[in-house]
Amino acid sequence: MMEPGTIRRLDEAVVNRIAAGEIIQRPANALKEMIENSLDAKSTSIQIIVKVGGLKSLQIQDNGTGIRREDLGIVCERFTTSKLQNFEDLSVIDTYGFRGEALASISHVAHLTITTKTRNEQCAFRASYEDGKLKGEIKPCACNQGTQITVEELFYNVPMRKQALKAPNEEFQKITEVVSKYAVHNPQTSFMLKKFGENATIRTQAKSTVENNIKTIHGPSIGKALLKVAMENKILQMIVNGYVTNVNFSQKKAIFLLFINHRAVESVNLRKAIDQVYSLYLPKGSAPFIYLSIELHPNNVDVNVHPTKHEVHFLHEEEIVDQIKEAIERTLLGGNESRSFYTQALLPGASDPPNSAKLNESGSDKSKLEYKFVRTSHSDQKLEKFFGINVSRNASFNESYEKTKIFKQEKIFRETKLTSILNLRRSVEDDCDRDLRKIFNELAFIGVIDRTQALIQYDTKMFLTSTKVLCEELCYQMLLYNFGNFDCINFSDPLPLLELATLALQDPESGWTEQDGPIPELAERIVEILSSRAALMREYFNLCISAEGHIEAIPLIIEDYIPSIVYLPQYILRLATEVEWDDEQDCFKTFCRETAKYYARVALTKNEQEYKWEAEHAVYSAIKQYLIPPRAFAKNGCLLQVANLPDLYRVFERC
Ligand code: ADP
Ligand code: MG
Repeated sequence: MMEPGTIRRLDEAVVNRIAAGEIIQRPANALKEMIENSLDAKSTSIQIIVKVGGLKSLQIQDNGTGIRREDLGIVCERFTTSKLQNFEDLSVIDTYGFRGEALASISHVAHLTITTKTRNEQCAFRASYEDGKLKGEIKPCACNQGTQITVEELFYNVPMRKQALKAPNEEFQKITEVVSKYAVHNPQTSFMLKKFGENATIRTQAKSTVENNIKTIHGPSIGKALLKVAMENKILQMIVNGYVTNVNFSQKKAIFLLFINHRAVESVNLRKAIDQVYSLYLPKGSAPFIYLSIELHPNNVDVNVHPTKHEVHFLHEEEIVDQIKEAIERTLLGGNESRSFYTQALLPGASDPPNSAKLNESGSDKSKLEYKFVRTSHSDQKLEKFFGINVSRNASFNESYEKTKIFKQEKIFRETKLTSILNLRRSVEDDCDRDLRKIFNELAFIGVIDRTQALIQYDTKMFLTSTKVLCEELCYQMLLYNFGNFDCINFSDPLPLLELATLALQDPESGWTEQDGPIPELAERIVEILSSRAALMREYFNLCISAEGHIEAIPLIIEDYIPSIVYLPQYILRLATEVEWDDEQDCFKTFCRETAKYYARVALTKNEQEYKWEAEHAVYSAIKQYLIPPRAFAKNGCLLQVANLPDLYRVFERC
């Protein structure tokens, strides 16, 4: 029998080397850390010289603040950093490095030399490191302000790793990717990358722009195809800026530069979502160029996932990904005049770009059947056919629908005499866009794209519609026109307002901060406000709150449409905080607006069959019948014309 092996404690140097290998897996990882350090040090120039894919030597020179002489002794020890003092700081960190681990790790797997000069020092100093410690003396020398770090013989003491990294060209490729990313994202700083003894492969100027750097690095054909993406979402505390290529452009392999809070990261979920958008518009096997810079509240990002910090996760990830996906889709559809089958918001009255002339011709000349074959009657095929999904109300859906119990109450229709409501109705009517009204009136529903968008057809024109925007306006108008006559959706178990209000305040969406006061007190106040208005809400809107402070029912605004229960807490909160209870007309207006907003939001928890069914049979059928489109809808992107329908169908057929 074999004896069991003796368990020995590993030598400390070996332990450190293993740990370091986790962080520095290849030269490009070391370089990324060093570039981030240079940017943290406010450099406006970063120059990188590489020998043998960075395995032989990797040198980075910056003109930043430099490192003070007295810090040189410990700068390569683990957990030494000038950027973070305690755990709380982690949440507000706005510099790249935060663990004080990069230099230490590099020194465990390579020969590391730092030459650095601060502004106040007379001369520069040079020091070498091994296994986290200073090796030899700190020597004065001549050098400009800034820091030069040289990493030599990377993985010299990790034979396994060196084995695995045999191809310097591949390593240089990875290094190029890292430098490209940071150069695009930091146009204020000039970047230079070259192989030792050769010409620069990347060179950007200081004080350049993101767009310019994309052109310089990725080439003019990408440069020409760029569309700007910009959005802000206060609720999600998110700002997104970027550039994406339009649908005319494609390359074999996608290039995706993603920065979250200025760190280059990966997000599988976001990538998938974006791929999905483009797969609708690009031929199979071709891919876009994407650069996105997302800024999130530091509290909402978990940067501390893995030492390599590549794959990040963040709070509200699904919603954020969804929003970005939508923003890109809007950009693609809206800003892409150069492609014949998508033209920008071509609504009645707007002048048509020249390349859509054909379509308009066919609109007026009905004999041009080519453009007519797409879909003209309701019994025609719908989008689902092309996706192979049959959307109908299946048994299980019916069951869950039944459970929510809708009790219809037989009521006598009451005409309202309230001037406030009549005024609000009149302003809706005065603002009606007649051309849009005709489109909506005669729309043929084609299919649901996702929870917020659908495709409809009018005549030979196909439109991409924002279900959310339309549904909100529809609900608002229904609330005004059906005033005092609502059926209701009853909850089988009435829900305590206090709990709903507490939940709402705890949700970051509420924007609650400590300065607003303790949550329990606020929640009670919300219950008080709503209870004192319970009679009015019950009388006019059939929103029923019991004497015990339970919500029993909400109005049935659109036949067969049930709003997403997950947003009920926010709705309750907003009823208390956003409705102008003291003035009659304002009160009805804001109440109806808030209620409409709630009803128009479709939660991710709603199942696909259900929201598809509702969109088609409840929402769009009511839009067709009732919606009075305000003029703003001709310009706000809620209805975008998609031209040259046969081409579009060809695209979908491929999916
Ligand atoms: P971290 O960046 O997490 O602080 P590092 O190991 O990457 O940890 O760097 C350790 C410290 O060395 C930094 O906090 C910084 O003070 C200093 N440092 C590293 N590189 C530079 C540089 N290029 N310019 C100025 N200071 C630097
Ligand atoms: Mg660092």
